Amino acid sequence: MRGTVHVIGAGLAGLAAALAIDPAARRVTVHEGARHAGGRCRSYYDATLKCVIDNGNHLVLSGNPAVRHHLRVTGAEAKMTAPDGAAFDFADLATGERWQVRPNAGPIPWWIFMPSRRVPGTRWFHYLDLAKLMRARGATTVGQAMRCSGTLYERLWHPLLVAALNTEPRDSSAVLAGAVVRESLAKGGNACRPLIAAEGLAEAFVDPALETLRRRGVSVQFDERLRRLDMEGDRVARLDFGEEAIVLGPDDQVILAVPAPVAALLVPGLEVPTAFRSIANAHFLVEPPENLPGMLGLVNATSEWLFRFPGRLSVTVSDADRLLDMPREDLAKLLWAEVAAVTGLPEALPPWQVIREKRATFAALPEQEERRPGPVTAQRNLFLAGDWTATGLPATIEGSLRSGARAAEAATRALAAG
Ligand SMILES: Cc1cc2nc3c(=O)[nH]c(=O)nc-3n(C[C@H](O)[C@H](O)[C@H](O)COP(=O)(O)OP(=O)(O)OC[C@H]3O[C@@H](n4cnc5c(N)ncnc54)[C@H](O)[C@@H]3O)c2cc1C
Repeated sequence: MRGTVHVIGAGLAGLAAALAIDPAARRVTVHEGARHAGGRCRSYYDATLKCVIDNGNHLVLSGNPAVRHHLRVTGAEAKMTAPDGAAFDFADLATGERWQVRPNAGPIPWWIFMPSRRVPGTRWFHYLDLAKLMRARGATTVGQAMRCSGTLYERLWHPLLVAALNTEPRDSSAVLAGAVVRESLAKGGNACRPLIAAEGLAEAFVDPALETLRRRGVSVQFDERLRRLDMEGDRVARLDFGEEAIVLGPDDQVILAVPAPVAALLVPGLEVPTAFRSIANAHFLVEPPENLPGMLGLVNATSEWLFRFPGRLSVTVSDADRLLDMPREDLAKLLWAEVAAVTGLPEALPPWQVIREKRATFAALPEQEERRPGPVTAQRNLFLAGDWTATGLPATIEGSLRSGARAAEAATRALAAG
């Protein structure tokens, strides 16, 4: 055993970092400030609804390699449900139209030539806009790279991009949008089957990871909030948790997997993203209609995606800062009116819960993208992980898992290099 790796934060980035370290070679301890793991990707018992719900509906895609790896390593593959093929259902609340977008399985996109598989009112050549996004470089915005208007944009690109970027697509980094497209639609339907944690995020992403770590002898400490990193020359010498402090030995290392604003406080001079966007979720306790798809995109509505769960319907609104000041019940009523209209359920508001995560993700703007650091810092035993680090992706589960594995790799490499 060569020293201990202290992972700070048990969100998905911290869990992925801890999982990526060889337990036979290093001791690993995870220190989490809260009383639970999962960070922004968590489930909890809601006393109002009297059931376990997620802080927000999370969607990942079948082509996300780090997600697949995480589920495989923790034995949780069966916790995700996925349709057989890639299919995205939509409803337009203004016109009442319904359609399904069905990319074919392979990377040659013949589906765009078939009216039955593409968005009504669009032609095949409209879809070539995506190639422009994938070619974008530097500080280009999506609005500069492609046309952000017209039927296809309003009925497909905007709903998909705002969900992936959590920022108004027009203003967002075209490089980040291009990366999402390159890893999903451009690879074909096999890579973009939507995967949903049907029993909850904790069941799929968090509890199996904690159990795997426990089996490997990794200690995960809750209620341990790091207050300060004491530096000595070019290394971290001491971790200050308030009542307790840990003095680091020569081979000890730290992987900081906390949110960007916390990292900026702990590491003086560290440049991190400074703009954030919220996500609003409304959960309604109601039996979903039989014919409702697992996930439905809503166009010309405040609600963006409607998810069906056993005994519950959930609505997601991304880039939702405009809804932060709205009284919670007003928001619940607004979203329920749309859900009732599209599902045919009664208009009376069922039991509900609204969760608004104010700093859900960093804003995927070009200038924010430039502020994302890599895993290596000026301190030779300090490494960074988190969805806000330079993963090349927007703030996503895939990005946070990759960042954790990458920080663990950087730490292992640094130790080997002496
Ligand atoms: C409502 C919502 C919906 C989302 N939807 C999607 C989606 O559909 N698809 C998708 O891919 N992504 C989605 N995301 C993004 C995804 O949840 C995040 O990218 C991911 O969970 C971030 O993980 P992380 O480990 O990087 O950070 P975090 O989850 O923020 O983890 C950081 C951890 O550090 C802990 N911590 C903080 N300070 C300290 C300290 N001083 N000492 C010790 N511990 C500390 C925190 O308690 C937390 O557990 C969504 C996010 C939200 C909020």
